[in-house]
Amino acid sequence: MLMKRLIFFDIDGTLTRTQNGYLPFNEAVFKTFGINGDIRSVIPDGNTDPRIVEDIFAQASVTLAIDEGQWAEFSLNLRDCYSNAVQQGSTAIRALPGAAALLRQLSEEEKFICSVVTGNLESMATVKLQTAGLSSYLCRGAYGSDSPRRPDLPLIAKQRCEQLSQESIALNQCIIVGDTPRDLEAARQNHMKCVLVGTGRYPVEELMYAEPDRCLADLCDTAEVMKALATL
Ligand SMILES: [Mg+2]
Repeated sequence: MLMKRLIFFDIDGTLTRTQNGYLPFNEAVFKTFGINGDIRSVIPDGNTDPRIVEDIFAQASVTLAIDEGQWAEFSLNLRDCYSNAVQQGSTAIRALPGAAALLRQLSEEEKFICSVVTGNLESMATVKLQTAGLSSYLCRGAYGSDSPRRPDLPLIAKQRCEQLSQESIALNQCIIVGDTPRDLEAARQNHMKCVLVGTGRYPVEELMYAEPDRCLADLCDTAEVMKALATL
């Protein structure tokens, strides 16, 4: 039987780029918690949405315990604010160069199952992937709404994909594709492999210091990325 490979893509900086995403994010924070926080005052890269909100609160010197109900409300507000901002054109979400072509190619090979491991709340991830035209290629993975700790996410995503494909997949057949050292950390803590791309905030030179299994400038060379994902 063909040995399957699970590829877990990060979203922001790896598959997509958002312009002016701070507008709907800040709006959702204000709508839900009544706080004039600013996501631009924290470093969101590689972090989960729940931790980003906590960082924003800390920057604004606000102490507030957030309960489950408020997180659910925030998730809906975030989805609505982003959808509206995209429709109005104040925020743009685009697939990064090569991402769509790569996902299409991967979907045509039986060997690969593609999914996501992202710090975005699931509602947010759905808006981003649909807007960027990538959602049809990706199985349900794991999200910031599953756990604020990113290293918790890969195994949750793996279980969901295994349930869907009705087969178990070895950890050494799982590869995380991301754009920050936090993606690599999540991969290592779960004994998975990791490819990092220099399309986020971190230049390739800096990512190489972290020693991922492979480092790429971007996802543009479909054949090169496919080869890495097939042979690592
Ligand atoms: Mg990222």
